[in-house]
Amino acid sequence: MNHRDNAAALDRDDPLGPLREQFALNDGVIYLDGNSLGVPPKAAASRAAAIIAGEWGDGLIRSWNTAGWFAWPKRLGNKLAPLIGAAEDEVVVTDTISINLFKVLSAALRVANERDPKRRVIVSERSNFPTDLYIAQGLIEQLDRGYELRLVDHASELTGAIDENTALGMITHVNYRTGAMHDMAALTRIIHEKGALAVWDLAHSAGAVPVDLNGANADYAVGCTYKYLNGGPGSPAFIWVPKHLQGAFSQPLSGWWGHKKPFDMVPEYRPDDGIGRFLCGTQPIISMGLVECGLDVFGQTSVAALRRKSLALSDLFIDLVETRCREFPLQLVTPRAHTERGSQASFEHPHGYEVMQALIARNVIGDYREPRILRFGFTPLYTRYVDVWDAVEILRDVLETEAWRAPEYAERGAVT
Ligand SMILES: *Cc1c(COP(=O)(O)O)cnc(C)c1O
Repeated sequence: MNHRDNAAALDRDDPLGPLREQFALNDGVIYLDGNSLGVPPKAAASRAAAIIAGEWGDGLIRSWNTAGWFAWPKRLGNKLAPLIGAAEDEVVVTDTISINLFKVLSAALRVANERDPKRRVIVSERSNFPTDLYIAQGLIEQLDRGYELRLVDHASELTGAIDENTALGMITHVNYRTGAMHDMAALTRIIHEKGALAVWDLAHSAGAVPVDLNGANADYAVGCTYKYLNGGPGSPAFIWVPKHLQGAFSQPLSGWWGHKKPFDMVPEYRPDDGIGRFLCGTQPIISMGLVECGLDVFGQTSVAALRRKSLALSDLFIDLVETRCREFPLQLVTPRAHTERGSQASFEHPHGYEVMQALIARNVIGDYREPRILRFGFTPLYTRYVDVWDAVEILRDVLETEAWRAPEYAERGAVT
């Protein structure tokens, strides 16, 4: 395909096309960063107003009961569950990925050591999202019992690195930088064969690619709602534990929201029997309420339909970049195989940072990740095929005119 009309024809035939109407996206902006912060669903503004004026303003403290605030982490968890292959009462929406990972790793290490006390190693990838590695390091230091974080440089080395000393495999399903995706079922099987537990991070998977946690027999998972799920900046994350492991879940952040009877106000902590024990303290209710607006859009389609369009968008983008921009030093770092690709396409360029700033100045919003990587996310709920075509033409223009060489594009903000 090399003509904009062909892209427009794909949009006309796109069964997901009408869903774009449900997002507050400014015309003139090509947004290819929904993998980092999703676009607001239009419903979010009125929902926020209703929560603030009605539930908070009129309802006041009564809304913990009358609006059901207290039950939202579980209720929204159940609503999110079908997107990740989870069953009823296996997911709660709460806290951040970093905090949830701390809880999950603590619980998982305990279970692993009850089975086999000599297992002291957490295996992960050096290319994992840094907070995952930082949290593991912090927990290891805190426990001070000789645990070790073993990092591999390539995904292919994971299998070899997991051995009789491994307690956990801490794996991010889709790599944030390259968009490379693991085979969750196959890797979980290998981790189990070696006698370890599998902890999955779904930050770049939930709402982006098909996930079947129970089908894969995974042990624990965390993920966030502000990326592909369009929950809003800093909206609460989620945590999944299958029913058979919930009883064994004991986590150090034993706050009152995880108590079996929080309003008994007793001095001794007793965990909730089920998924509730993953909660810690009072949640950001306004932000959490908006998570539902994002989830409601997913309820109108299927993960299979989203996946089909996501791959078509990233295929088209890769194809156009490699044909329309072939004289420029852009190197694809995302796997070409569909089974190994998430919902993004990343290219390396020697001046990746500057090129991305020049694109953003032209209203093509992707982002930049060290080192030298231009990252473009594809969110089939609101991204059109013509957006892909136009983005590549603007990229071509930025490279051809060397617009990226303007000095202002070399300046770095606090967030890249
Ligand atoms: C985005 C992301 C996070 C973010 O963690 P927070 O604690 O929610 O800020 C963590 N892990 C991965 C793999 C991510 O992609």
